[in-house]
Amino acid sequence: MINKEYTVSEMKKLLDSMAGMYDLARIVDPIECRILKLSEDGTIGMSESCYGIWNSDQKCANCSSAVACKTGCHQEKSERFKDNVYHIQSNPVKMKLTDGGVYNAVVELVSIGGAGDEANDREAENVDGAAARYRVLHDPLTGTLNAEVFHETARELIVNDPGTSWTLITGDIMEFRLFSSLFGVEKANEALKIAGELLEAIASGSGGICSRLYRDKYAILIPSEGYSEDALKDAAGKLRSFVYNGIYTLYIHFGVYEVKNPSTPISVMCDRANMALRTIHRDADAVVAYFNDEIMKKGIFEQEIISGFDEALAGGQFKMYLQPLTFKDGTPFGAEALVRWIHTDGAVISPAVFIGILESAGLIHKLDSYIWGQAVKQLAAWKNTACEGLTISVNMSPKDFYSIDIYETLTGLTAKYGVDNSKLRIEITEGAIIDRPEVSYPVISKLRSAGFAVEIDDFGKGQSSLSLLKDIQVDILKIDMGFLRETENVIRSQIILRSVITMANELGLQVIAEGVETERQLESLSCMGCSRFQGYYFSRPVPAEDFLQK
Ligand code: C2E
Ligand code: CA
Ligand code: CA
Repeated sequence: MINKEYTVSEMKKLLDSMAGMYDLARIVDPIECRILKLSEDGTIGMSESCYGIWNSDQKCANCSSAVACKTGCHQEKSERFKDNVYHIQSNPVKMKLTDGGVYNAVVELVSIGGAGDEANDREAENVDGAAARYRVLHDPLTGTLNAEVFHETARELIVNDPGTSWTLITGDIMEFRLFSSLFGVEKANEALKIAGELLEAIASGSGGICSRLYRDKYAILIPSEGYSEDALKDAAGKLRSFVYNGIYTLYIHFGVYEVKNPSTPISVMCDRANMALRTIHRDADAVVAYFNDEIMKKGIFEQEIISGFDEALAGGQFKMYLQPLTFKDGTPFGAEALVRWIHTDGAVISPAVFIGILESAGLIHKLDSYIWGQAVKQLAAWKNTACEGLTISVNMSPKDFYSIDIYETLTGLTAKYGVDNSKLRIEITEGAIIDRPEVSYPVISKLRSAGFAVEIDDFGKGQSSLSLLKDIQVDILKIDMGFLRETENVIRSQIILRSVITMANELGLQVIAEGVETERQLESLSCMGCSRFQGYYFSRPVPAEDFLQK
């Protein structure tokens, strides 16, 4: 987040996307102590004071966001204000202003922890300084070290004891948000406390330290010789049995990183343990995952893709390939645009390798709008040639709905190159439509009213294909090739396929069968009433400039 410059509208979307992940995600000007209000049109307004949400009526004495803003470095802290403990992450960001200037602000991501026992704390404060010091160092809910102190103490342990090899473990409770909303804050706090006690026992039993870093995230640093996978599994089992109520239980996952280089920052060690943890975080049966070279390579590879992307795009390394869409006799009526990354060493990289990574990094809209531009330019170049009557279908990532104005981008391109909207077709997967219908439906309707044809891609792959057709009007169904690859339930797949084709024909939808590889498949699809095809049987995707020669 730190080194990138965002437009105001990109930042607004980014914040919106984080809203569900934290108790509070907001952008502030920590110098003026104000919450910023971002508008779609690129303007920034000042709102109420940022310290108001802590129920405080004056500036915070040790504002982590002010430090983040001044130093340009991410800061984190846990702070108690009145009844709650807030874990605050302060991420410095730069926003591009409409006049070309840059605004330094800070994105604050806040998680609200348990209430703790204020009365006791107050008493303790009065009684002696040792208790107050304890509070500064520890997470009030679990009694484990707080994140800041964990980082400092971990560094001291490693530096002071160079002969010992260390293992860093991170722990994360699965679906904790859901648990908290199902069972309430009190029960959730109790679970956090128990997890803290179990992990603290593992750490202190072998001369290590433990922290609840924030919310349901824990970390342990222990000498490697004291590490035991069984101990982690045992703790996970105890946590499960504490919560188990016949229906619901609570799972905790652990990522383990064996410290190779003691000078690696503690936050990087935690990142690596978390990278391992993420490989199992949806798997209720798995408890422990280990960081290894493969995970490291994957992480580096993803990072390379992300960091090399802008330059590769500007350098023309992404190329549009076209695959013909044909009638039964092979005559094309259109083409699908499929992107390829032609690396500087000449290697052709398949979209399956990089689309998902670019989606996660919030970059896919740049690639998609580039390919849409290439497709529109190609349609313009086909005017007055043998290809004049052909359409081009372009792919759209579900993320595009949240990153750009799809309608403006597409109509802008067709207007710029003088191309009729009906020549461009938009492929959207059913998942992308169903995920947030309130966002996708209006865009689809607007595109169709402007004359673009909308295709449902990979139809049949998702869960709710049929109900989707009831709710939203589209023009074309592309039937997923999974149907054709089916070997076990041939008869059943054929019946389903035949019914889908009949239904689509009756609804006045065009059907395109994707992935046709053999003459037999072609004949059988054709007998079922399908007359449009795409697949290696006719042609593989080819560079756009070779398409004319087909
Ligand atoms: P898709 O949209 O379902 O595209 C069809 C994929 O099936 C293409 O893979 C195509 O090369 C492949 N294919 C075509 N005929 C056959 C056949 O007869 N047999 C087999 N086995 N495969 C066939 P490709 O080009 O690797 O693209 C993979 C996916 O990447 C696409 O699936 C699409 O979801 C995505 N993609 C490609 N280009 C773009 C793009 O510009 N933007 C976005 N967002 N996604 C893209
Ligand atoms: Ca497609
Ligand atoms: Ca497809």
